[in-house]
Amino acid sequence: MSKKLSPWESQLVNIKKVSDLMGLEPAVYEVVSKPKAILQVSLPIKMDDGSVRSFQAFRIHHNDARGPTKGGIRYYPHLDLDTEKALAAWMTWKNAVVNLPYGGGKGGIACDPKKLSKGELERLTRAYAAAIAWFVGVDLDIPAPDVGTNAQIMAWFMDEYYKVTGRISPGVITAKPIVLGGSLGRTAATGRGVFFTAVEASKAFKIPIKGAAVSVQGYGNVAYHAALNFHDAGAKIVAASDSRGGVYNKDGIDPRKLMEHKKKTGSVKGFPGCEDIGTKDPLTVDCDILVPAAMENMITGENAGDVKAKMIVEGANGPTTPDGDGILNEKKIIVIPDILANAGGVTVSYFEWVQNRMGYYWTEEEVDQRLERVMKQAFKDVHEQAEKYKVNLRYGAYVLALGRVAEAMKLRGWI
Ligand code: NAD
Repeated sequence: MSKKLSPWESQLVNIKKVSDLMGLEPAVYEVVSKPKAILQVSLPIKMDDGSVRSFQAFRIHHNDARGPTKGGIRYYPHLDLDTEKALAAWMTWKNAVVNLPYGGGKGGIACDPKKLSKGELERLTRAYAAAIAWFVGVDLDIPAPDVGTNAQIMAWFMDEYYKVTGRISPGVITAKPIVLGGSLGRTAATGRGVFFTAVEASKAFKIPIKGAAVSVQGYGNVAYHAALNFHDAGAKIVAASDSRGGVYNKDGIDPRKLMEHKKKTGSVKGFPGCEDIGTKDPLTVDCDILVPAAMENMITGENAGDVKAKMIVEGANGPTTPDGDGILNEKKIIVIPDILANAGGVTVSYFEWVQNRMGYYWTEEEVDQRLERVMKQAFKDVHEQAEKYKVNLRYGAYVLALGRVAEAMKLRGWI
């Protein structure tokens, strides 16, 4: 069995392969294989019980050749620097795939937000914003939510940033509440983008969506909105899971009712009329379309052989390891890679940043139409590169992204 790669090593494997495939000069890989800047801070917080805890936090700028870095903030107990670096690099590639004028960044705090009170969460977020204020900015690095963070956390971050810098610049962070300059359509955007790319792939590879059995892993923001879109387009949601368990019903599950159940009980587990399954089981149940939308490294050399879907739309970042990917490829399963499939969120975050800078706001229909246009174009560009180089869509996406980043680095005189 080959060595288990970390997320950072996994993305380097892909970048090296693509760099060789394109015949790029070694300087390109040399630059992108090292993040531009890493800020690591400790955040001492007074807890509600009077004790003090110090939380480890990061912010990373991977590459800013194409513009300010952009990427989410993750609150997660097992957060580590290696994964954060990989997530920052994936943002560089993702932003290039959808042709946004951004580089890639990421950040987060090693904490379990579910175990913090609202007051503790606010103090921790404000401490983080104050500590990294000099490292972010509307023309420097623009955070957004990711796993474990939400619009309220963006609002606290924004407020603290204003206090520290003395500047009102709503474009410093995206996916804010609407009243604070957030964009309509942002909450649903990633799942909506997952669906738009699936529609394009369904046309290209003749895998119908109407009547398809769809399985989703990780019933959070991305999976829920993807499931809603598939359901409303006539597909059947047959399985879903979260960190506490999963559910299966071959006749279909109503995604709205499932979310109501999760909100009430804290998990999809025990949803009436369904068989209880494990957190990873949605990956291998009988289905036509699979949306892994939980965390990285879920489809691996160990379980990829059991995947039954005809098409995988990667809602999560890095859900498939290179080993797993090799097996999916041999099985001729169509994989719409993360850096294309889940780019809808950052695309609407970009729209939010644009609206903040103009001070003029679009309707939800305008946002949705622009998002569909961007996702369709990105799918077309990726598909063209995949055909040109006779590779799968993942490599097609990396060819497109690395080509665009390399061109920017060359023009700026870095290589
Ligand atoms: P979220 O916190 O709303 O949801 C994550 C879900 O995954 C939760 O339901 C959680 O219980 C579940 N989960 C965690 N570990 C699991 C496991 N081992 N098995 C099954 N389920 C598990 O987060 P989200 O915003 O929906 O993000 C999900 C993924 O999508 C992440 O990889 C994130 O980086 C990626 N992503 C999110 C966005 C966005 O706009 N929210 C954009 C692009 C990519």
